[in-house]
Amino acid sequence: MSSTTPDAKRSVPFARPWLTDDDRAAVQRVLTGHVLTHGPEGTAFEQEFASFMGGDAHCVTVSSCMAALHLAYLHFKIGPGDEVLVPAQTHVATAHAVELVGARPVFVDVDPATGNVTADRLAAAITDRTCAISVVHYAGMAVDMPPIAALARERGLKLIEDCALAVGSRIDGTHVGLFGDVGCFSFYPVKHLTTGEGGMFVSRDAETAERVARRRAFGVDRTPAERSVPGVYDVPEAGLNYRMSEMQAALGRGQLARMEENLRRRDENFRAIRGALEVVDGVRVLDDVRPGLNSHYCLTAVLGVEVGRRRAELIPDLNGRGVGTSIYYPRPVPQLKYYRERYGVDPASHPVATQISDCSIALPVGPHMTAEDASWVGEQVVASMAAHS
Ligand SMILES: *Cc1c(COP(=O)(O)O)cnc(C)c1O
Repeated sequence: MSSTTPDAKRSVPFARPWLTDDDRAAVQRVLTGHVLTHGPEGTAFEQEFASFMGGDAHCVTVSSCMAALHLAYLHFKIGPGDEVLVPAQTHVATAHAVELVGARPVFVDVDPATGNVTADRLAAAITDRTCAISVVHYAGMAVDMPPIAALARERGLKLIEDCALAVGSRIDGTHVGLFGDVGCFSFYPVKHLTTGEGGMFVSRDAETAERVARRRAFGVDRTPAERSVPGVYDVPEAGLNYRMSEMQAALGRGQLARMEENLRRRDENFRAIRGALEVVDGVRVLDDVRPGLNSHYCLTAVLGVEVGRRRAELIPDLNGRGVGTSIYYPRPVPQLKYYRERYGVDPASHPVATQISDCSIALPVGPHMTAEDASWVGEQVVASMAAHS
């Protein structure tokens, strides 16, 4: 039958976990032992993630970024009657974590150049009921944190950073997640690094990390390793089970060890595609001007109004050419059914988030691509736009 032909069709998915034989062997090693949770892999992953971030990061493995966000609001006792500022342009988890503790998410529009909130936009949305600010480093682009951290300090607000798409993003050397009170990371399969499902809760405050570590394990006062008599413990507070298993942690350690190369490849792929798109009119690439701020989860191409109307034709055309795409995010959170019906926010209050949702295409830049793949993706996008102009 068919053998590989020289013109075999190239195909680049939007994202694919980067798994090696070493990763698989690490999981296998856990499975040949007896400790499947609460063990040395989890502790080592926490320490290695802290040293990757640098600064005074204290890290707690959790079952997802959503779990980390939920634990943050529980820890700060934010609840009914409280308001939390949430970017309109984000994953629904950022808002759900607020909603699930009974507080009210107040949606803030984002800046058109970066897709991120700014200190000015946040300041304008603060009321007497505001208790916390949550920021999202959109698609790997660091939010300009120093003025927002100053604003939070000045107004006595907690500051929670959703870093789900921002492993490796730093501002002047400081990793995102270390500007606020808490940073929350996701290790879902398509993110920068994966544990299948999983996440990391990060705080500069050792006591916060310690309390949250207990709350993610039912609020029990000592781990199995800390018990002098096996099976004997007490429970000083209510908690959840948001733990990460040893298999997941082992996978995460392998991924983290390749993070610098992962980030380098993302940066090269991003530059190649952005370069190709420079010749196209009516397309804007979300990016930042300072180097090091963007860990490139993907490349977000925002189409101008004219081209934007043709997104519904462009996406199937690109997919047909073999270019995987996605949309981040399909709608601003206040326009998702649950939030629309509950709060009835006027879409006119967040026009930029709406434009990004309606008119952007997310393109692949991950380490599953070679440099040639990246140039090819750029060419395909240019050709597709030309064919649909
Ligand atoms: C993916 C994502 C989440 C959710 O992460 P999980 O680990 O799947 O819970 C939260 N926030 C943002 C910005 C995300 O992109």
